[in-house]
Amino acid sequence: ATKLTSEPVGRGSLTKSLPVPIPKATRLRVLVTGGAGFVGSHLVDRLMERGNIVIVADNFFTGRKENIMHHLQNPFFELIRHDVVEPMLVEVDQIYHLACPASPVHYKHNPVKTIKTSVMGTLNMLGLAKRVGARMLLTSTSEVYGDPLEHPQKESYWGNVNPIGVRSCYDEGKRVAETLCFDYHRQEGVDIRIARIFNTYGPRMALEDGRVVSNFVSQALRGEPLTVYGDGKQTRSFQYVDDLVAGLMALMDNENEIGPVNIGNPGEFTMLELAEVVKEVVDKNAKIEYKENTADDPGRRRPDITLAKKTLGWEPKVTLREGLPKMVEDFRERLNLGAAKASA
Ligand code: NAD
Ligand code: UDP
Ligand code: UDP
Repeated sequence: ATKLTSEPVGRGSLTKSLPVPIPKATRLRVLVTGGAGFVGSHLVDRLMERGNIVIVADNFFTGRKENIMHHLQNPFFELIRHDVVEPMLVEVDQIYHLACPASPVHYKHNPVKTIKTSVMGTLNMLGLAKRVGARMLLTSTSEVYGDPLEHPQKESYWGNVNPIGVRSCYDEGKRVAETLCFDYHRQEGVDIRIARIFNTYGPRMALEDGRVVSNFVSQALRGEPLTVYGDGKQTRSFQYVDDLVAGLMALMDNENEIGPVNIGNPGEFTMLELAEVVKEVVDKNAKIEYKENTADDPGRRRPDITLAKKTLGWEPKVTLREGLPKMVEDFRERLNLGAAKASA
């Protein structure tokens, strides 16, 4: 009888020559860019809870270590100080690509860097996804609809965006990021997901973030007047962060829908109505101060979420009146204001 002398090729022979066999990855490995930020840190909490290996890459432009500090001792968590404008080598199964400043105050601060982050950052993450065969989800934005001429906004609407205005670095940056995703998908077969996120609020938003909900809440808590820009009749639809994170994970884990999908709460409020809700929750005697509005401010915005309901089985659960108190509690603690002061 002939004796088999040579080792079988491939993994079998390799593991035999090693003292310890290479374990097959049993946990899903997930990269979250921008994971130290507001939305990213809530997403990281959910991923860690469900037992994933989570790698956060963040340059800390607007993110904070405090947001993810509670995971630092966990061996399944890794934090990398990294700017997504630079290439990155890691081995993962999923990429949630959030890295990008989101508040107008932040993204207008260094517009060239903002557009580099969206374009080069997304290119790098798609190159990474292509190399390792990962699925990549882009957090795009309702800002791709610009100052919308259709209301509410459906995913099929192409938008009304000023290409050369002060908001363009963000809006057009995200539009190019979406284009890159679809071109990598069609040309290279990269597995992509695109979420178009509408205004989101909740605990851990930066106190000086500059967005309207965080501004009103900090102002009301500090006893300062609420700054309403323009006539306050412009509208937005506000989504609680837990609903957003559930929507992002539902989209990432869906085998059929790649998007773009609107993820937002259809409850629409004028800024004056929002100010009233903040007054109800924090201090009914708070004053309002009118300020000049910024350029190209969209007049109204409300998501049509038919697609998300139908394909992801997702819809938001938390109303503004339910979500706001949770954010107020967090802001009160971080502003060192102690227990709730009775709103007389
Ligand atoms: P955020 O500013 O709190 O978080 C952004 C994170 O990205 C921060 O941790 C920041 O340090 C990091 N970052 C920025 N530039 C980077 C770079 N070049 N390299 C590495 N990290 C970088 O904002 P957020 O509200 O948490 O937004 C997260 C994502 O969701 C963004 O992509 C934003 O465009 C999108 N989005 C958010 C909203 C919203 O209302 N929160 C709405 C639409 C879209
Ligand atoms: N890239 C990366 N990590 C990887 C693979 C690629 O950051 O693991 C970057 C790469 O440096 C490039 C971009 O992603 O800038 C696009 O990569 P791709 O392979 O599509 O294009 P090419 O490198 O051929 O220009
Ligand atoms: N806004 C306001 N007061 C503030 C900050 C913002 O009235 O202190 C208005 C702003 O003009 C816009 C809306 O609130 O019409 C939402 O602005 P935000 O910066 O939160 O997000 P955007 O949807 O513009 O990205």
